[in-house]
Amino acid sequence: MTAKIIDGKRFAEDLRGRIAGHVARLKAEHDITPGLAVVIVGEDPASQVYVSSKAKQTAEVGMNSYKYELPADVTEVELLELIRRLNEDKAVHGILVQMPVPKHIDPNKVIEAIDPAKDVDCFTPANVGKVQIGLPGPVSCTPLGCLMLLRDELGSLEGMHAVIIGRSNLVGKPMMQLLLRDNCTVTVAHSRTKDLAAVVRQADIVVAAVGRPQMIKGDWIKPGAVVIDVGINRIDAPERGEGKTRLVGDVDTAAASEVAGAITPVPGGVGPMTIACLLANTITTASLINGLTPPS
Ligand code: NDP
Repeated sequence: MTAKIIDGKRFAEDLRGRIAGHVARLKAEHDITPGLAVVIVGEDPASQVYVSSKAKQTAEVGMNSYKYELPADVTEVELLELIRRLNEDKAVHGILVQMPVPKHIDPNKVIEAIDPAKDVDCFTPANVGKVQIGLPGPVSCTPLGCLMLLRDELGSLEGMHAVIIGRSNLVGKPMMQLLLRDNCTVTVAHSRTKDLAAVVRQADIVVAAVGRPQMIKGDWIKPGAVVIDVGINRIDAPERGEGKTRLVGDVDTAAASEVAGAITPVPGGVGPMTIACLLANTITTASLINGLTPPS
């Protein structure tokens, strides 16, 4: 058996097309142009790349994109003051502060300063709680992207056993909430889980969010399972030449593909979905701020 490759890049393109349609309708019918403000502190090259592609894709779907680049030595007070101004700004419907912030700034203070109505990353306690009890609002971007790919692949997820490996606030825990809402039986594994291979072997759905290159082996996968690989790890690739590297996921994709029913590749799987879901969240917050029902 060779697994179907789930094309996240293609799905994200289609999603961005649908989002552009929602933006056009908000403009035409309600005179609202959704605006997303992205704040970056310092010059971390990976963060710069993420922020540039977020700004580019925001503009491509017809939203207003506002980028704030602050020096690495900006004070916490100055950053919190910028967030306060963005909270007040009527043209801004989404605020994202690129993490990680430099060590002299408390990330929790930053998160708590963001108005939950504009918290498109779904980091604030208010929005985490809303996801848990099923109220409308933004949903954590990467787990939302994973859920969309799973629904597209499987239709109903009801009754399936999903095993999530990783329990971070960013991925594992919100993924658990979303799969539970879709009536999966959910197991969340982590670094203290005993006999992880045996746990994963029970899964109809595997979501790997560990941050360890190719840790999930092919013989851990139940035949026919759907595997969502969230991991993004850079490893040495001497076969490409001296000093070269390449990206791999948390799953041994080649081996798992022999057993799984479908699998996301790295790159080109979950990664592209994350930014598309950020834009989807901005439509949600722009709608809710203006008293409109967000598109489903
Ligand atoms: P974290 O480091 O915050 O969490 C990793 C989780 O994996 C923890 O819960 C940890 O357990 C668990 N873990 C670590 N080692 C093991 C092990 N040996 N066995 C079982 N569980 C283990 O990572 P994130 O959730 O932020 O990210 C996970 C991966 O996803 C990373 O590769 C990251 O780059 C990627 N990522 C990709 C995104 C995308 O857009 N595609 C977006 C966000 C992240 P414990 O809690 O016990 O320490």
